[in-house]
Amino acid sequence: MTAKTIEKEKLTELAKAIIAGGFRLYGPVRTGGEVALTEVTEEPEFDFDYRNFKTSPKEFFLPQSEVLCRFCRGELVEDAASAPEKKVLLGLRPCDARALWLMDKVFLEEPEDVYYKENRDKTLVVSAACSSPEATCFCTSVGGSPAGAEGSDILLFDLGETFLLEPVSEPGEEFLNQFSKITKDATKKQISEKEKIAEEAASRMEKLPLDDAAERFAKAFDSDIWKAPSQRCLGCGICTYFCPTCHCFDVTDETLRENGRRVRTWDSCMYSLFTLHASGHNPRPTQNERVRQRFMHKFSYSVENCGELFCVGCGRCIKHCPVNIDLREVIVP
Ligand code: SF4
Ligand code: SF4
Repeated sequence: MTAKTIEKEKLTELAKAIIAGGFRLYGPVRTGGEVALTEVTEEPEFDFDYRNFKTSPKEFFLPQSEVLCRFCRGELVEDAASAPEKKVLLGLRPCDARALWLMDKVFLEEPEDVYYKENRDKTLVVSAACSSPEATCFCTSVGGSPAGAEGSDILLFDLGETFLLEPVSEPGEEFLNQFSKITKDATKKQISEKEKIAEEAASRMEKLPLDDAAERFAKAFDSDIWKAPSQRCLGCGICTYFCPTCHCFDVTDETLRENGRRVRTWDSCMYSLFTLHASGHNPRPTQNERVRQRFMHKFSYSVENCGELFCVGCGRCIKHCPVNIDLREVIVP
C-alpha cells in the first residue's frame, strides 16, 4: 500500500473534500483548553498538539446509551435506531484503535452485534501515531506500539511541514486514493523519517514485565493482590467508563402505555448492582470481588476467550481514578 503525504496547509482542503464526499468528519479540536474528537463542518481548525483524548472513542461504536428497537403492544415496530451515517474519525491514538480491534473480537464474532457492526463498517479510522507518550502510557507492554496499525484504516505521522498518511487497510487505501489531487506519494526519506518517529516514541516508554501476565492472572483468583486496591476503591466506575476496551452494558425496556423502546446503556463491573440477582443474592458482594473481576476480565478471561489481554495501556484509568489506584501496581509482580 502506497504511503502519501499532504502539506499541512492543505489539510483544510482535504477536510472539505472528505465532507463533500458525504462523510461526517471528526478531528482533534481544542475547546476550553482540551483537545477532543469533535465534529467539524466548514473550516476546521485542527490542533494536533495533544497526547490523547480525555475520553475514549468507543462511544462512536458502542454509544453510552442507544435505542436498539421500538415496540408497540409487544410487537416490533422499528428494528433499530436510524442507520448510522458514514464517518471519518481523525486523530485517534493507536492504543485506542487497538482497543477497537479488541472490541471487534467481542462484537463481530458470532453472534455478531449488528449495531456495533453498522458503526464499525461505516466509520473510517485515521490514527495519529504518538511521538510523545505520557508517563501513564504503557502500550508496548501489552502488545501495542505508538505506531501500531491494529484497528486503524490509515496511520498519520507528523513530519513537521507535512503529514504522512499510510493506508493500513483496503478501505483506507481506497479512501486515500480519492484524494490523489491533494496528496503526493511519500519519498523513501519520508518513510524512514516516520519509522524513526515510531521507534523513538517506543523507546521512551518503560517496558513493564507483563509477558507472563496471562499465566499469572490465571492463578490469581484466590490471591490477596486484590485486597489493597479494593480497600481504597470507591466503586465509582470511572476507570471502566474511561477505558477504551471495557464494554459491559445493560439492556432495559422502557414503556409508556402501549409503546416502548429497548435501550442499551453502559454498565460497570465495579458497581454492586451490576451482579445483584432478583432474589437479593449478589455473587460479588464486596468491592474485593468487583476489583478482582475487572482485573481478571482484562488479564485472564479475555485471553481465554479472545486470545488477547484487554488492556491497551492508554493509562486513562490511572489518570482519572479519584483515589489514585494505579493498575500497574496490581499487574506488575
Ligand atoms: S476509578 Fe478508582 S475508585 Fe473508581 S471504581 Fe475504578 S478503581 Fe475504584
Ligand atoms: S485498563 Fe486502564 S490502561 Fe488499560 S486500556 Fe483500560 S483504561 Fe487504558
